Amino acid sequence: MSRIGHAAILDQVKGTFTVSEAPVPDPKPGEVLVRQTMCGVCGTDVHMYHGHFPGTRFPIVLGHEILGQVERLGDGVSTDSMGEPVAEGDTIAIIPGVNCGLCYFCAVMKEPGLCTRGTAYGFRPSIDQRPHFQGGFSQYVLVNHPRSTFLKMHVTPEIGVLLEPFTVGLHFADRANIRIGATVVIQGAGAIGIFSLAAAREAGAHKTIVVGAPASRLDLAKAFGADVTINIEDITDPAERIKLVQSETPGGYGADVVFECTGVPKAIPEGLEMLRRGGTYVEGGHFTNAGDITLNPFADFVRKHITLVGVWGSSISHFVRGRPILESGRYPFEQMVSHRLPLDRLGEAVNAISTNYRLDGVEVRKIAVVANES
Ligand SMILES: [Zn+2]
Ligand SMILES: [Zn+2]
Repeated sequence: MSRIGHAAILDQVKGTFTVSEAPVPDPKPGEVLVRQTMCGVCGTDVHMYHGHFPGTRFPIVLGHEILGQVERLGDGVSTDSMGEPVAEGDTIAIIPGVNCGLCYFCAVMKEPGLCTRGTAYGFRPSIDQRPHFQGGFSQYVLVNHPRSTFLKMHVTPEIGVLLEPFTVGLHFADRANIRIGATVVIQGAGAIGIFSLAAAREAGAHKTIVVGAPASRLDLAKAFGADVTINIEDITDPAERIKLVQSETPGGYGADVVFECTGVPKAIPEGLEMLRRGGTYVEGGHFTNAGDITLNPFADFVRKHITLVGVWGSSISHFVRGRPILESGRYPFEQMVSHRLPLDRLGEAVNAISTNYRLDGVEVRKIAVVANES
């Protein structure tokens, strides 16, 4: 095939995105060539841009929240990873993470998300190296790793593109073992905060409290069913916020579960104080290295007898369980994508998320890069 495709290549840490071209490969047996429909810009992409993700190899085509249409199926591929038939033109979500299936964590511990030899689309080599087209900020993605997975999608692109970040919220809820009737605090009203709020409600939370900013994001949290919102721009004293949260919990003892979705280290001591004795603190906001904090083992952990869990990404089970919730219409997912940008504006997207979350005079909720004109 002599077609040429374009992708936005980042040359180095804090470098420049350049739209470059390369020949579009034909899929070999077992592979799928995907024509990108949309790819969400994630906080992780921005952290990788700033050099916070160890092991990133440059130049790179970022983008792991990938939705696209099947352009060509390699020989032997006729279904998605759940066995649903797929044909050229169908819309699919690519599950970015790929595990090896053989390492200790894959084969023995049965925790493929912890694979030591894994890779992921959006984290793989760039367009100028073989195999080409391995990230979502590109007109094409070649799904070529033999252990790749993908799911056929039946929703609009603006909703389907949210599947990957939504799965992170599902993973939070799994790790918290939320019980029916629980009170759950969500620190952060970004995309992961909003999605983990929806996941907490699905898991049985009776009361959800979102602590974040700005007001418009808290309005979105309300639209997703948050019972209480606390604006950190209005209530700037953490001690006051802690009291407010406690006053919203049974007996004033604190929340059963707190999700940290800010990626800001200093949110953690505050969140731990919002937790009741014996509660569960879920740390998932720091997918990249944003620095250290000081904690007191006695006061923060032992005396309160808490459970502290970390969450790393998500796995295919979360995609399979998250898809019908996205498709159900129970939550206003369609309100999430605030911007659709062409490839050559990716740098502006990263800049907006790195600074004031505003672009073209509109506040950023989720930016989607659209690499192909429809
Ligand atoms: Zn992401
Ligand atoms: Zn492995």
